[in-house]
Amino acid sequence: MPESSQINARTDFLNKLPGAPASVLLLDYDGTLAPFHVERDRAYPYPGILPLLGAIQQTGRTAVIVITGRPVEEVQALLQPLAGIEIWGAHGLDHLLPNGTREQVPIDPSLTHALQRAEEWLHSQGMSALAEVKPGGVAVHWRGMSEDQIQEIRSSTLQGWAPLAEPKGLKLLHFEGGIELRVTRPDKGDAVGAVLRDLDLSVPVAFLGDDLTDEDGFRKLAQRGLSILVRNEYRETAATSWLKPPQELTSFLEQWLRRTSIS
Ligand SMILES: [Mg+2]
Repeated sequence: MPESSQINARTDFLNKLPGAPASVLLLDYDGTLAPFHVERDRAYPYPGILPLLGAIQQTGRTAVIVITGRPVEEVQALLQPLAGIEIWGAHGLDHLLPNGTREQVPIDPSLTHALQRAEEWLHSQGMSALAEVKPGGVAVHWRGMSEDQIQEIRSSTLQGWAPLAEPKGLKLLHFEGGIELRVTRPDKGDAVGAVLRDLDLSVPVAFLGDDLTDEDGFRKLAQRGLSILVRNEYRETAATSWLKPPQELTSFLEQWLRRTSIS
């Protein structure tokens, strides 16, 4: 993507904030707000990010909303002491509203059953330590392993899961550091769509994400808001802008705060 056009996209967007009584900041968590960590419960945000998000929230003019593949509780714990953040967990399956209300999308029992079998297969192969069971999905994590180990785990898992991935309604997701068998819908695009449904067209909206699963969200925001790929190396993306974490991300959030602090 040409650098000048994406800088323009960001500047045009940020310049709308001072005049906007309301705005929405949509954020993926892993790889976007926080560096990857082999111990997933220790993947805390980059230094300075939490105070910035807290200050942006405090202006009362921006709704800060996290859209993540993780279960809601995990992100809530990692974002402490930030409170009252809206979270769409498990790719939009699990919704925590700022007032603490929880809404969950029901899963078809046949899909739950297939996911249970995917989990049992991992246990039967001695892969329990790599497995993560979450609402609507089963993941295998290989971050920190050698290329050879990753190849072996990937191919044996794909083989073992192949018969289970057949029923309609399940998909195989390749993400940074692993694969996941999960329900096809909702995806992050559905979560972004649900946020947009309740919004006036005049409200500026941005979505920041790093992973392939964030592309659904970028596409949903096309023509409507600012989509930003947050990643050290550029890759093909539907996002209209690209920032390298943590410096460029921090600077973007600082500019957001400054422009929403103007009365
Ligand atoms: Mg991510």
